[in-house]
Amino acid sequence: MKTPTTYAQTVALFGNPAKSDGTLNKQWERDNIVSMKIPAGYPMFYLGTKVRTIRIHKLLAPDLQQIFTEIWDATRIIVKQERGYGYSTAWYDNRTREKLHDLGLDQFSGSYNFRPVRGGTQLSSHAFGIAIDIDAVHNPQGTKGRMPAFVVDIFERHGWQWGGRWRRIDPQHMQFRKE
Ligand SMILES: [Zn+2]
Repeated sequence: MKTPTTYAQTVALFGNPAKSDGTLNKQWERDNIVSMKIPAGYPMFYLGTKVRTIRIHKLLAPDLQQIFTEIWDATRIIVKQERGYGYSTAWYDNRTREKLHDLGLDQFSGSYNFRPVRGGTQLSSHAFGIAIDIDAVHNPQGTKGRMPAFVVDIFERHGWQWGGRWRRIDPQHMQFRKE
């Protein structure tokens, strides 16, 4: 799937979340937004509460699931490089979860979120269900943040764009749309 680069392409690919008056089209939401399961074993929390699913556009759910699997795998490799080899699977699983936590990669900060707009203003990627925020506490808008480079690489290889590259920098933000 090719990453949309214009607003029109985004609507053509993912549909229009808004009715003509700018409010949410609930039928669009029912037809397009799914609860994607976070891969088994991957820890995820939203403001301290365990999260098992993420609401996202159905066309991106398999892709985002694969991205989290790759983040898990890459983090596990870092653990092995740092801690050595020869431990049990369970030991590596636990150290991988700890490392994900140290890196803020178990902190979910939002995905699908429709906000009404008036007067033809464009909807945010979150309103299409094509964006996710990770670890907002350590990656606030307007700062460099601390999003690990390998995580940025993984998302970009899947055609996503990182808000950390924007002039109006937003390092917590990943979206399947190039602005
Ligand atoms: Zn965002």
